[in-house]
Amino acid sequence: MSYNINFQISALIIVVLLLHHFVTRKKLHSANTKIFTYVLILSGIYILFDLISTLAIMSYEPACENMALIILTVVYLFDIMLPYILYCCAVVSRGQGKKIDGVSMICTVVTVIMLILMLINLTSGWFFYFDQSTGYHRGSGYVMLYIYVLLYIVLVIHQTLKKREDLNVHKMGVLAEIVVIEGLCMGVELYTQHVMLSGFGLALGLVFLYLTMNNPGDFIDSTTGVFDKQYFDNWIQEKLDKRTEFHLIAVEAFMLKQINKVYGSSVGDQLLVQIARELQNITGSVQVFRTTGNCFLVIMDSLTEYERNRQQIEEYFREPFIVDGEKIDFPAVICGIINSEKMEQEDVLLAYVEYLVSLVKHTDETVVIQSDDRILEGFRYEKEVEHFFKNAVEKDLFEVYYQPVYWIKEERYITLEALSRLKHPNMGMIPPDVFIGIAERQGLIAQIGLLQLRRVCHFIKENEHIMDSIRNVKFNLSPSELLKPGHSQVLIDIIKEFGLSQAYFQFEITETVATEYSESFCKAVEDFQNAGIGLCLDDFGSGYANLNAVLKLPFDVVKMDRSLLTGITCDEQAANFYRSIVMVMQNMGYMIVAEGAETEEEVNLLRSWGVDMVQGYYFSRPLPEKELLKLF
Ligand code: C2E
Ligand code: CA
Ligand code: CA
Repeated sequence: MSYNINFQISALIIVVLLLHHFVTRKKLHSANTKIFTYVLILSGIYILFDLISTLAIMSYEPACENMALIILTVVYLFDIMLPYILYCCAVVSRGQGKKIDGVSMICTVVTVIMLILMLINLTSGWFFYFDQSTGYHRGSGYVMLYIYVLLYIVLVIHQTLKKREDLNVHKMGVLAEIVVIEGLCMGVELYTQHVMLSGFGLALGLVFLYLTMNNPGDFIDSTTGVFDKQYFDNWIQEKLDKRTEFHLIAVEAFMLKQINKVYGSSVGDQLLVQIARELQNITGSVQVFRTTGNCFLVIMDSLTEYERNRQQIEEYFREPFIVDGEKIDFPAVICGIINSEKMEQEDVLLAYVEYLVSLVKHTDETVVIQSDDRILEGFRYEKEVEHFFKNAVEKDLFEVYYQPVYWIKEERYITLEALSRLKHPNMGMIPPDVFIGIAERQGLIAQIGLLQLRRVCHFIKENEHIMDSIRNVKFNLSPSELLKPGHSQVLIDIIKEFGLSQAYFQFEITETVATEYSESFCKAVEDFQNAGIGLCLDDFGSGYANLNAVLKLPFDVVKMDRSLLTGITCDEQAANFYRSIVMVMQNMGYMIVAEGAETEEEVNLLRSWGVDMVQGYYFSRPLPEKELLKLF
């Protein structure tokens, strides 16, 4: 019989090409890439042997029958061993090498039996035999070889699936396709006996695997050429699981947005490419990732490497960048985390990086922040609060405290600021700065705002007499509450629902959100104005607000940020600055609240400058309902 060996030759070429591409492409050391390299090598050998055996059969001469029988037996013995070796590789690299499970035992026994049967075949001819006149023939047991190989393919795929929770429907589909293709090819080969397709099916399967799960080009960030977030996620989790030492440097190019605005996004892209290249040059490794638009991570395995690299990266960012001959300052926040393996989980590690970045007050200079025990403790505290938080929202464990605001002219309290409080059974009071931030990140702030507004309404309804001396209650609104379409009406409706006058309320809006004009924000402001709810500009002077934009809004009151108060009693310049702002704002018709006055000296100064109202610990701290009522 003549055999069609074209498919075997093609299969061999395909596998060799795949192997060449896979080995030479940039990739990181991981269990998955290791397995895939083994799979490629073993598959290549398997197909080569398949081809040799076919050639041996084709060139059969009755005179050298024994020779052909021995060559073929040796090849088949290898054929039986190879799937077994492949399976062992898959098991070992999944980290289950030490304890042998039931399936592995059965596999070993089956493989040994197959090897023995193949040796016995020299006399029994159960798998194959030679006929003096017609040459090579398959025996009745030949089909067992196909079943055996197919079984191992399924087992290897099963091993790959194990522990890989990230396998989605698409990837499962790919693996199923591979099994089906190989099954079909084997079926055709078994049926026709002369079209040698099984190796070709295997090669096709490998091409599929290369294109889907093992394509090193898949996880490359197209702008910068470093690895992307998805690759980082998989790779770093494997590293964390091994618990071997590693250190991380994060580089956040926080000016990217501004650069894109000023110079155009192509310049922004070029800067990112420069950073990516330099990070690879400095570290001399491929372990560089871009995890968000402006954040790069570099992983190092030794502490000396880490120290050296951190210094060099810092120096690199101190110099201006050059794009198209123009010098551009492109500072960054550089975070260092030594022994990152302690973070255990990939998402925790990334959250920690984000936390570190959030601690840095953005200036226009490069800042280095190095993780230490104190910072880590702060992070864990926040995580614990975060954990507790969902529960707190569901059970509504919040309270409202009220801080009275003193009216200088009539020497009495004139308004209150409602401030949220959350008490943890073990951790005590959680500062609102912490939990409001969490609520914003978890998208729960609007929900909490509604709960708190109801609470305030309820309190006023029960104690409406305090409104005889109090003009209004100030209520804080976060940016997301102001930007959520339709939310303003929900707030207004709650006040209506309690039958309270809208004039009892004044909403506080921070200066940063007031600058970020958007349609829903303007609509909210308009709604409040129409309903008769006053507006107060909060934290004035704390950021870089666009004054022109802010002052177009219908504020009644401007609250001077506590930070402006620092030094007014000892620093003439600080005092002049404060006084001038008060003057300008009053000339423009705003009432002024000075926030954060703690000493008599401060209050006297503020009084002499004609500040209308003062809110601060000097007069009163925020008080729970009962204590507030005592005050009135
Ligand atoms: P804020 O709106 O600037 O509120 C004033 C903060 O200054 C309050 O902090 C108050 O306790 C504090 N404070 C008042 N007088 C003094 C003083 O003399 N010295 C010092 N050191 N601090 C003083 P608190 O209650 O911790 O609230 C922090 C921030 O959390 C608030 O800043 C506000 O932005 C936010 N927040 C609080 N409750 C809510 C809420 O219900 N909703 C929203 N969206 N934000 C809230
Ligand atoms: Ca406020
Ligand atoms: Ca404030």
